[in-house]
Amino acid sequence: MAKSIQAIRGMHDILPGDIPAWQRLEAVFRELAHSYGYGEIRMPLVEKTELFVRTIGEVTDIVEKEMYTFTDLNGDQLTLRPEGTAGCVRACIEHGLIHNQVQRLWYCGPMFRHERPQKGRYRQFYQIGVEAYGMAGPDVDAELILMTARLWKLLGIEGLELQLNSLGSREARRAYRDVLVDYMAAHEARLDEDSRRRLHSNPLRILDSKNPAMQALIEAAPRLADHLDEDSARHFEGLLALLDAAGIAYTVNPRLVRGLDYYEKTVFEWVTDRLGAQGTVCAGGRYDGLIEHLGGRHTPAAGFALGMERLLALLEEGGARAAATPPHIYFVIAGEGLASLGLELAESLRDWRPGLGVVVNCGGGSLKSQMKKADKSGAALALILGEDEAQRGEVAIKFLREKRPQEGVPQAELKTRLERLLDGNGA
Ligand code: ATP
Ligand code: MG
Repeated sequence: MAKSIQAIRGMHDILPGDIPAWQRLEAVFRELAHSYGYGEIRMPLVEKTELFVRTIGEVTDIVEKEMYTFTDLNGDQLTLRPEGTAGCVRACIEHGLIHNQVQRLWYCGPMFRHERPQKGRYRQFYQIGVEAYGMAGPDVDAELILMTARLWKLLGIEGLELQLNSLGSREARRAYRDVLVDYMAAHEARLDEDSRRRLHSNPLRILDSKNPAMQALIEAAPRLADHLDEDSARHFEGLLALLDAAGIAYTVNPRLVRGLDYYEKTVFEWVTDRLGAQGTVCAGGRYDGLIEHLGGRHTPAAGFALGMERLLALLEEGGARAAATPPHIYFVIAGEGLASLGLELAESLRDWRPGLGVVVNCGGGSLKSQMKKADKSGAALALILGEDEAQRGEVAIKFLREKRPQEGVPQAELKTRLERLLDGNGA
């Protein structure tokens, strides 16, 4: 036998047994997005590398070491998208979707990052992303957060903590950056390798370090909150007031800086301690400068992305398991030359009731073995077309989940009989 080929490390198949949970999450989210007036957008999985470098920032984990980049046959540098915001902004500029109008958008799909695979961290993973363009105030920041809070409620997820921070304007951040660099440089001996590297390229990211040895130094560092510009401070206060009024609990985490360079003002994360090290299920913030930076007209923007695998792990951990819906009918075709009539009858049932689940036994087999499959399918009813039934112009109905005698029904009356049975007054 030939040696089998396995999937790429960190990239997973989503098997039929897991699909109901995914579909439920997608369906709940789709309806939620609609109820807030957000429309779906679908972007390519591959973009020019330059788009991500310009958007996410050169000195970030993603661009430094996580991108799947390749040269295609034309010699173009392309990258499998590591996140959705860059492509969404690109698409909106390209199609004029943000000219003198606001846009509320969402997308859902796979993202690719070459990270070290572990629980909750994969190389292909799925995100739901939401973006709001053209609205500068804290009201839309609050709307995005309310939307996520409602999603947790709809899914039955409790105990997520909302962490918030403000990164201030670019100018304020630049000023703070100098203060931070002075502080960190004064303690250079205590910096780990990553932090030393970031000291002059992206010092704010030092605050984001997960290294326990760095924590005391970070704790004592000057705070961004003390260096906010007035506009950002007012924006942040406005957001907190809106959340207070809406009854949304939060923690202000002055060290929350987020991994992507494009954020300013509001940043937020929903975190849990129930998923081990990978505890952030949703993250977002405001990126007012990005659209202009990518060649569009200045447009305020805010958004978030949530990790679907982490959310589903949380649901599973809470014991919620969505089950597949079984078919209504398993169609047993037991006899030579009956396939054509069997398929025709099954088609006529599907014509009659769109949505009716009819699984036809293809590939033959004895009556006994087909009945076993019927039982395993989870269907409530088996329809049996054997040689005797065919000769009499009938189909037999067998009740798979009740003790009840089998019935022979003329083929012409099958729908009338099924109608009663399926609608629950089939006595
Ligand atoms: P982390 O700090 O966990 O690496 P991040 O800041 O890189 O996260 P974002 O780019 O903000 O993550 O992505 C938003 C969300 O997508 C994360 O909060 C997480 O739920 C999910 N996510 C990010 N990277 C992965 C991954 N490699 N595998 C699974 N989910 C991921
Ligand atoms: Mg990351």
